[in-house]
Amino acid sequence: MINYIFEVIVTDIREGDKLTMKKTHPCGNNIFTVLRIGMDFRISCDKCGRIIMLPRKKVEKGIKKIVRNGETV
Ligand SMILES: [Zn+2]
Repeated sequence: MINYIFEVIVTDIREGDKLTMKKTHPCGNNIFTVLRIGMDFRISCDKCGRIIMLPRKKVEKGIKKIVRNGETV
């Protein structure tokens, strides 16, 4: 049971990471930079620069790929 919970809640996202999301922003881009991590995540669109606040759960569910320092993690 404990192991199960652990697996579900831990997604390794750090500030500065580039997230490729399943959903695209209205501007057509789906790559976002993580600005702040907390209860809510603050991410900015790499194309239009808009800042979006999303609950952690939503961010984790929507991630397709995480890129850190040019490498996929
Ligand atoms: Zn955008």
